[in-house]
Amino acid sequence: MAQQRSYSLEAVVLKRSDFGEADRVLTLFTPNKGKIRVVAKGIRRLASKKAGHLELLCHTRLQMAQGRNLDIITQAQSIATFPALRNESEIWHMTCAFYLAELVDRFIEDDTPHPNVYRLLLETLHALDADALATKQQRAGGEPEDALHTRTRLLLCSFEIHLLTYAGYEPGFRACAHCNAELQPVENGFAATLGGALCPNCSRLWSRSLSLNALKVLRILHRSDWSYVPRLRLSAELLGEIEAVMHALLRYHLEHDLKSWSFLETLNHRP
Ligand SMILES: [Zn+2]
Repeated sequence: MAQQRSYSLEAVVLKRSDFGEADRVLTLFTPNKGKIRVVAKGIRRLASKKAGHLELLCHTRLQMAQGRNLDIITQAQSIATFPALRNESEIWHMTCAFYLAELVDRFIEDDTPHPNVYRLLLETLHALDADALATKQQRAGGEPEDALHTRTRLLLCSFEIHLLTYAGYEPGFRACAHCNAELQPVENGFAATLGGALCPNCSRLWSRSLSLNALKVLRILHRSDWSYVPRLRLSAELLGEIEAVMHALLRYHLEHDLKSWSFLETLNHRP
């Protein structure tokens, strides 16, 4: 029998689906290989020692064996399991964590290394885990529910800005995305289709408005690692405006990509 080649790997588990009687196919995000799919054999059996180390979003060290189609996990040892994100009482934070995994899965293509995105995902998961723990304590101290989530909502915006940047869709918050004039400290505009903020002249034609405060916060998030973002006091309205900008950008780039993919498919399948 030919000897199977084995190797070790560090990864975050992005996605899982059941396969065969007791197996699972996992989508892993790794620092050097990017996004890959592998098989975890027997993992759904009760006695599986690997199961606890291969939960969704676990940061894990793996021993792998080369398989005929997909490579096979032979050993797993978790590095971080983010316990506060698995606590049923902080279900909102858990949902946020799944959202991060979903975004990485949608924006990052298979088998392409993205060490920046890998680092970003891990740092954000650690920050989210710490937030979930802090939230639990603050709630016990009687802080109102909506105030509890402000910092975490901003953390998601920070993740989105950096993910877009690393994926090649850096949003423009310094110069007008249409005429390239430097943006002034006034109310500007914003158009997702142009990838960023617009000066008042250009925004008259085709954009929604962008308040000066929202622009300032977006710039802070853009230029800083999350650990350097100061604790900002934001009104619900301002936070909503910032989230709307980021969601419009994400939606535009995802749909745009999907269209170009299906267009390329059409070309490929032409006789
Ligand atoms: Zn302009």
